[in-house]
Amino acid sequence: MTTSSLQESYLRLMPNEHLGTSWFQRLREYLSRFEQLNLELVLSIISTTNTFTVEELNEITSFCSPSVVKHLMLKDVAPPLNFESLLDGLFWTCHPESLSVESMWGRSDEFMQFLREKLMEKEGVQPVCCDSRSVKCWRHYLKGIEVENSTTSLHGDSFSPCQVSTICFKLRW
Ligand SMILES: [Zn+2]
Repeated sequence: MTTSSLQESYLRLMPNEHLGTSWFQRLREYLSRFEQLNLELVLSIISTTNTFTVEELNEITSFCSPSVVKHLMLKDVAPPLNFESLLDGLFWTCHPESLSVESMWGRSDEFMQFLREKLMEKEGVQPVCCDSRSVKCWRHYLKGIEVENSTTSLHGDSFSPCQVSTICFKLRW
């Protein structure tokens, strides 16, 4: 895929390895090549484990700011993935203008609930974490958030129906 200033870019990733700090770091470097506002990123996460540790970040990537992407869609996010550290890693990697989660047959419902609580509790609260850190977490950059829509519907045909729920958040950074 090449960098383009006019076309929308669409990037779909299906990582099935352990998602560690270096994975997020590579993704952040990769995203910085795109015309940022036009990028739509879809992540289907099949991995079962993930970590994100600020102390493991090297200084070069910490220095450039995270990419602004138009839309980030997450699929297949379910335990035993660690939701907290996934969110920390993703929002360190990019700042999406909208974030949606798709849940098939309720697989990611727990993650949706987690996001509602995590993102909404942030509303109007001045973060006190990271005070002594040079790399601040996403909570210090997120200015506002609202749920744009939330739907559940049946897809497929009557022989193999599939119930899909989605939630979409609008984020202001
Ligand atoms: Zn913080």
